[in-house]
Amino acid sequence: MIYQDILEASALEQYAAALNARARKAQAAGQLSAADLRHRIHACRGRCEWCGASLVEREFELDHVISLRQQGRHSAANLAVACPDCNRRKGSKHPARFAAEIYADTGLRTDLLSGIMAHFSLEPARQSPLFGPQEGAGLDAATSEGVSARPPYRWSALPGRHDE
Ligand SMILES: [Zn+2]
Repeated sequence: MIYQDILEASALEQYAAALNARARKAQAAGQLSAADLRHRIHACRGRCEWCGASLVEREFELDHVISLRQQGRHSAANLAVACPDCNRRKGSKHPARFAAEIYADTGLRTDLLSGIMAHFSLEPARQSPLFGPQEGAGLDAATSEGVSARPPYRWSALPGRHDE
């Protein structure tokens, strides 16, 4: 895969098609468009959404926050940009458990961690942009459902400071 600074439309469409095929195989609800992926990748502003690490000149993954096997939706709202370390460490962990682990390590409350902590009532409520009211309900032990296809993109510079 060639990485480019510009999110090229045809590469994104191929990437979306690969992710959608994988999701269909897992019988997951939802579908992603190239525009969804472009938005998700830009929204991370060149930082891992879990730990806040810079993604400049690093590979990264788009991970289902709630795994498809746990009835997580195959939707933009359930995707997070993850650095290779977080992607590997998350493995089959429940997102709430992993969020707590990352927060204990970094002390950094990224928007993603805040959303997950609020959603799973791990701290006083804060509006969660991440999940709909029913999504993630009844989760127990998650199973691994990584998205292994790589985004057709690599950050070469951060677009601005991340002031979390
Ligand atoms: Zn990370």
